[in-house]
Amino acid sequence: MSVMSSDKVLPLDQQERKRTVPELLFGDLWEYAPAPENPDFVEYKEQYGHFINGEFVKGKDHFPSVNPATEEVLSHFASADKKTVDSAVAAARTAYETVWSKMPGRERAKYIYRIGRMMQENARELAILESMDNGKPIKETRDVDVPLASAHFLYYAGWADKLDYAFPGATPHSLGVAGQVIPWNFPLLMAAWKIAPALAAGNTIVIKPAETTPLTMMKMAEIFQEAGLPPGVVNVVNGAGATGAAIVNHPDVDKIAFTGSTDVGRIIQRALAGTRKRLTLELGGKGANIIFEDAPLDQAIEGVINGIFFNQGHVCCAGSRLLVQESILSTVVTKLRHRMSSLRVGNPLDKNTDVGAINSKEQLDRIAELVQSGTDQGAEIYQLPCSLPEQGYFFRPTFFTKVAQSHRIAQEEIFGPVLSILTFRTPQEAITKANNSPYGLSAGIWTDKGSKLFSIAGALRAGVIWGNTYNKFDPASPFGGYKESGFGREGGLHGLLPYLDLR
Ligand code: NAP
Ligand code: MG
Repeated sequence: MSVMSSDKVLPLDQQERKRTVPELLFGDLWEYAPAPENPDFVEYKEQYGHFINGEFVKGKDHFPSVNPATEEVLSHFASADKKTVDSAVAAARTAYETVWSKMPGRERAKYIYRIGRMMQENARELAILESMDNGKPIKETRDVDVPLASAHFLYYAGWADKLDYAFPGATPHSLGVAGQVIPWNFPLLMAAWKIAPALAAGNTIVIKPAETTPLTMMKMAEIFQEAGLPPGVVNVVNGAGATGAAIVNHPDVDKIAFTGSTDVGRIIQRALAGTRKRLTLELGGKGANIIFEDAPLDQAIEGVINGIFFNQGHVCCAGSRLLVQESILSTVVTKLRHRMSSLRVGNPLDKNTDVGAINSKEQLDRIAELVQSGTDQGAEIYQLPCSLPEQGYFFRPTFFTKVAQSHRIAQEEIFGPVLSILTFRTPQEAITKANNSPYGLSAGIWTDKGSKLFSIAGALRAGVIWGNTYNKFDPASPFGGYKESGFGREGGLHGLLPYLDLR
C-alpha cells in the first residue's frame, strides 16, 4: 500500500511547506530525537482461538490482525461460527444462573476492582499492544486508553454493592446474558465501557472485539483468568461481522450492547424489533465544535486539534465540523495552520508522535474517497505538508475551508484526521447549523460568556456537550447520542440502567 494515497488530493501549490511567522522568527521546528517504546517488552501468541468458560479454546478459519503502522501481521485469530457462539452463550447462561446472579454485590465488586487493578499493573504491556494492533500513538494508549479503561472497572466496582440505593423507589434486577459487540477505534476502552457496568449489575457476558483489533481483548481474557473471575462470567469470541450477527440473533441472549457504525446499528435494530431483547446503540457522529468571537482563541485551537486529530480522528464524538464565527475566521485558520505545523505524524510507538496510523487500508481508502469528494464539490483543502513513513497506512492532518452544508464532508462521518470548517454570524445560525446533521452525539462550545454557553448547549441536540474543552471523558459521566447516533447511555449511574430491570 502506498502511503502517498493522500497526495492525489494535495494541490501542488501546497506541497511546498509555507513557513509560519514563529518559524521565520525563531527558525524551523526542532527535530526531536526518536523516543521509541520497546515492543520487545510484550508477549503475544502467533495464533488465538476464543475464551470460553474460563478457558482459551482453539478455533478455526483464522484471519490475521496487522500492525497498521508497519503492515506486519501480528497474530491470527479464529472466527467463531454459530456453534462456537452457542457454547459461549451456554457458558454465560450457566455462570449467570449458578454463580454470578447469586453472588452478593460486594463479592462481585472485588472481582471487578481486581480487574481494574490488574490493568494498571499491566498498563505498559496493554498500551504497547493497543498501539501495535490499532496504530494509535503510545502517548494516547499510555495516558488515555489504558488508565481510562481501568478507571471504568474501578468506578463500576463501587456500584456493585449499592444497586439497591442507586434508583430510589425501584428494586434493580440483573437481566441475564449480555451480548456485546465493539469497534476498533478504542478496543480496550470500549470493552471496559461494556464489561464493567454489565458485571456490576450482575450480568454475564459474551463479547466480540473488532476484526482488526482483537489482540488486547485476548490479553484482557488472560487478566480475567488470573483475577480468578468465575468461568463463563466473561466469554470472548473472535470473528468478523457474521460472528457479531450470531451473538445479536442468539435466542438466549437477553441484552445487546453495540458500538459501531450507524449502518450496522440499523441492521441490529431491525433484527431485534419484536423480540424481548434489550438494546443500546452507540453509533456514529459528526460533532460541531463551535467557536464564538469572544472565545479564548489559543485554548480553542488546542480544543480543535484535540477534537479532530486525537486518535487520528477515529473518534465517534470527534469535533469534525468546526463552526467559526465569521469575524474571526482568518485568525482561527492562521492559528490552526500554525498549531498543526508542530504535529508529529508517524511511528505510533514513538513517544513524540501526535498522530499515528490509520487503522486499516479499508479505512484509509474510505477517508481518501471522502476527502476527494470535498475537493470535487468545491471546498478548499489544506493538508499538513509533513513527511509520512514509507510503510503503513498514514493520512496527513487535513482541513477544508469554503465548506457548504450540503457537501458530503459536512454531512458524512469521515472517521479520520479531516476537519470541515464552516462559518456562522449569529448564535441562532450556529445552533441551526450545528443541529443540521442526522447525527446527535457530541458538540463543543467556546466562548468567554457562561450564560451564552449554557443557552447554546440547551439548544443543541447532542448527547455530550463540552464547554471550553473537548474530548474529555470520565467514568462517572454518561455518554451517548440522539438521532442516528443511537440511544442508551454508557458511563455513570446512567450506564447501569441498560443492564438492569427496575421493578
Ligand atoms: P462497524 O463496522 O459497525 O463494526 C462494529 C462492530 O460490529 C465490529 O466488531 C464489527 O465486526 C461488528 N459487525 C459488523 N457487522 C455486523 C453485523 N451485521 N452484526 C453484528 N455485528 C457486526 O463499525 P466500525 O467501522 O468498526 O467502527 C466505526 C464506527 O463506530 C464509527 O461509525 C463510529 O462513529 C462508531 N463508534 C461509535 C462510538 C459511540 O460510542 N457512539 C464509539 C466508537 C465508535 P468487524 O470488526 O469484523 O467488522
Ligand atoms: Mg490490527
